[in-house]
Amino acid sequence: MDISQFEQINPPPRLLMGPGPINADPRVLRAMSSQLIGQYDPAMTHYMNEVMTLYRGVFRTENRWTMLIDGTSRAGIEAILLSAIRPGDKVLVPVFGRFGHLLCEIARRCRAEVHTIEVPWGEVFTPDQIEDAIRRVRPRLLLTVQGDTSTTMLQPLAELGAICRRYDVLFYTDATASLGGNALESDAWGLDAVSAGMQKCLGGPSGTAPITLSARMEEVIRRRKRVEEGIRTAEHQDGDDQMIWSNYFDLGMIMDYWGPERLNHHTEATTALFGARECARLILQEGLDNTIARHRLHGEAMLTGIQAMGLEVFGDVRHKMNNVLGVVIPAGINGEQVRKLMLEDFAIEIGTSFGPLIGKVWRIGTMGYNARKDCVMQTLSALEAVLNHLGFKTVQGAALQAAWDRYNREGRL
Ligand SMILES: *Cc1c(COP(=O)(O)O)cnc(C)c1O
Repeated sequence: MDISQFEQINPPPRLLMGPGPINADPRVLRAMSSQLIGQYDPAMTHYMNEVMTLYRGVFRTENRWTMLIDGTSRAGIEAILLSAIRPGDKVLVPVFGRFGHLLCEIARRCRAEVHTIEVPWGEVFTPDQIEDAIRRVRPRLLLTVQGDTSTTMLQPLAELGAICRRYDVLFYTDATASLGGNALESDAWGLDAVSAGMQKCLGGPSGTAPITLSARMEEVIRRRKRVEEGIRTAEHQDGDDQMIWSNYFDLGMIMDYWGPERLNHHTEATTALFGARECARLILQEGLDNTIARHRLHGEAMLTGIQAMGLEVFGDVRHKMNNVLGVVIPAGINGEQVRKLMLEDFAIEIGTSFGPLIGKVWRIGTMGYNARKDCVMQTLSALEAVLNHLGFKTVQGAALQAAWDRYNREGRL
């Protein structure tokens, strides 16, 4: 091996305007360049406690068990689903995009009996549709996605907690793509478990997954742990199929690690924790409501600009997430060629799509550190130039002017 062919890592500068990951806030990167400390150093356990406090603010909860799962967003999803679902449990998943299918797939691996309801991509469910399905299926858990980046839709959750209580259903949502950019009230909306990730509106690199668990969910997990311990001390293994088959994602053990017991489990990913702490600190310093308003403003400016360019927007815009926009690729334009020119000539990345939307829709994000006026203006001007170059004629400058007008209405921001 000739080591000289491996150059020092020096990624090309890019403006990441897709559905995630996005450019990390430089302050988060600086926090992550801090030196390591020992796992049980009082400074480290102090940071862990601070992380719990800070994420209670981000999730809008008083939940004691608000902590990080090491791994990308789906580590948070897997930890919650594995720990909450017992083999044979019925779960209900309202599917309105790719990430609903992911919840079904993980729930099946947990040996759940999975029931789904579906709406076409680009739409969301009414609370009545979900309540009807709960009445019919009688699930133990309702597994939802709040913001599904594959369709850009935001499922309204505010009324679902009360419905779940009426039917004694545990209520989970995957808020990876929505947290920080759209309202999420974990306690007021009656959520029993929420998971998220860093690389969307939280403005960090992927690699750690904040979660929060209600007291009800804690009890479910603790009770299961007691049952398992009972099975094992009885010196027979009949109940082995009831065991959480992952050690890494066993929330009972992870709570004992983050709690005052500090029982050794994994080695907390210190650098990722420093980054996650800074993400939450920055949001709470800005004020969570202001962070959400910032995402709404830049999302609307992007939407206005795209429409002024003569492009069609995908899905029901009344239910669009603030932080990502689906843009219908115009007839006669090769979507991949546009993305290639955007990247090569402007160093801007926009997203493709999945499943039924492949080749039909681009996804443009305005989230986290990139929910900024300059990012919106640069992306609109680059896209306009590329489209005109490829023969899709726009009224030159109209998109920028429309976005500008949207900003000027806001004044201060
Ligand atoms: C982006 C996204 C994820 C990403 O999961 P990773 O494991 O971090 O890649 C999960 N859920 C939703 C709803 C997302 O939008």
